[in-house]
Amino acid sequence: MTEIKKNEVPTSNAADLLRENKALKRQLRDLKSLLQRNKATLAARTSLSALLTSQKEHMEKSLDLLLENSPDIILLLNNNGRLTHCTKTFLTAATIAGSGLICGHLFTDIFKKIVSPKQLEDLQNGYNQAMNLRKTIELDYETHFPGHKSAYIYKVYITPMLEDDGAGGGTMVLFHELTDIIKAKEAAEKANQAKNEFLANMSHEIRTPLNAIIGMTHLSRKATDPKEKDLTLGKIETASMNLLGTFSDILDMSRIESGSLELSESPFELGLMLSHAVSVAAYGFEGKNLTLSIDLDPAIPSVLVGDRQRLLQAVMNLLSNAVKFTPSGRTISLNTKLLEIQEASCLLRITVRDTGIGISKDLQEKIFQSFTQVDGSISRRFSGTGLGLAISKNIVNMMGGEISVESEEGQGSSFHITLWMEIAPENEDDDTDETYCAYASLFNNRRILLAEDTAINREVVIALLKPTEAHVEIAFNGKEAVNLFEQSSGNYDLILMDIHMPEMDGYEATRCIRASSLPNGKHIPIIALTANTFQEDIDRCLAVGMNAHLGKPVVVDIMMETISKHLHNA
Ligand code: ADP
Repeated sequence: MTEIKKNEVPTSNAADLLRENKALKRQLRDLKSLLQRNKATLAARTSLSALLTSQKEHMEKSLDLLLENSPDIILLLNNNGRLTHCTKTFLTAATIAGSGLICGHLFTDIFKKIVSPKQLEDLQNGYNQAMNLRKTIELDYETHFPGHKSAYIYKVYITPMLEDDGAGGGTMVLFHELTDIIKAKEAAEKANQAKNEFLANMSHEIRTPLNAIIGMTHLSRKATDPKEKDLTLGKIETASMNLLGTFSDILDMSRIESGSLELSESPFELGLMLSHAVSVAAYGFEGKNLTLSIDLDPAIPSVLVGDRQRLLQAVMNLLSNAVKFTPSGRTISLNTKLLEIQEASCLLRITVRDTGIGISKDLQEKIFQSFTQVDGSISRRFSGTGLGLAISKNIVNMMGGEISVESEEGQGSSFHITLWMEIAPENEDDDTDETYCAYASLFNNRRILLAEDTAINREVVIALLKPTEAHVEIAFNGKEAVNLFEQSSGNYDLILMDIHMPEMDGYEATRCIRASSLPNGKHIPIIALTANTFQEDIDRCLAVGMNAHLGKPVVVDIMMETISKHLHNA
């Protein structure tokens, strides 16, 4: 028998125990590491849940921010079409105090109370379609929500919100407002159409007189009988004046639109100006048997201060329309009335009344807009640019006055200009036609220097001045004008100065003459005679020392009046 000593484990047992011990230790280690892992997982779970909570809070805040501030109307619906969220814009549009009052309601029930049955049906159909097709449906939608002052135009997007697996997760309905954009687009399209119509009319208005000018020139060349020649030349003159009128209207309108039309102020006799307008209008009757009467209120002070030419233009537009739109045998009248008088100004009304075709009520406002004619069709009965009344209105408004119309179809129209005008002080010189007609004899034997490089323009001025018996000398450019002035020791009475000339232009020539040491250099009247007719051109002429400005083509009366005025002053 084997003796077992103290502290001695039998070898086989000891080995078992050692193995067991090792296994236990391993288990302990495993348990420890499991514990460790569980601890880590727990920590991760805790932080993940915290993260999710904070993310959820963040999302909710973002959604609230979006719902509070979105300019679009947005509604979020659940799978059953019940409202879960909506923007503040929707609550305002629907006049609902808070989203709590409608959350959980069917969107159709909510809209039933704020849109028409047809609009509700459109929305419902769009919703059904979006759900069936599982894609965004767009609707053009116009509605007047109770919370809005007027109807708005929207693009509505109805979008199903799909989960990753394709299952439905509700719907988003978004109303994007486009009222201003659509209105601006419509207005731009209308303006464009009006401009196209205007261009077509304009082309017609320019080609018609040109056709007459070209045709009549041909006939005039061939005519041997002086009477026939005279007749054709008369027609050329009328057509040219029509062409000039159309051209001036276009320029005036463009100046009005760019804000560069300026008014001048000088004393003038209202009665004389209106008589002049009537006599010019009567000239246009030609072949039309019309009676034109004028009735001036004697209470209106005779000399007023203002822009005579522009007021005349406005009245002439009204008169020529009256002539154009009144059939033969009827009457037209022009009258004035003093409405109020104060110390230095008076309120007066000028009325042009006709018994012509009249204008329907709804078209009466339209006629004062630029580029518009009541009858814009190709086959319209009356020619015209459609600018006359727009120009008249702008001129009268610039003078601080109003222009209005009363009319009945088939009965006739009355156009009224009502405006305050300054009364000229008693001793003020008035620039009336009569005053200058009296100076016609002033031309006799006066020396006029004409600086003009274009042969045909020289010819026109010389021919117009011939009957006055003034002596006209020619300079072919600005430099020659200065030389002739110096060589003659300034011995001229007046200079007519073109602006665009070779070698030296009219501005420079004027500066040289004004700087001359000759005594007459500072005082000789220099009048611009130029095709540059904008206000800034006139200002520039005056700034370099010219006394007056005449535009080309020359209006004979105005040229004579201006020259005689300056010969008289000199
Ligand atoms: P137009 O050059 O075409 O005459 P206006 O601006 O002067 O342009 O007038 C615009 C439109 O207003 C005319 O085309 C015409 O249809 C209408 N109208 C103006 N004056 C009268 C009037 N006295 N009687 C009837 N219609 C008028």
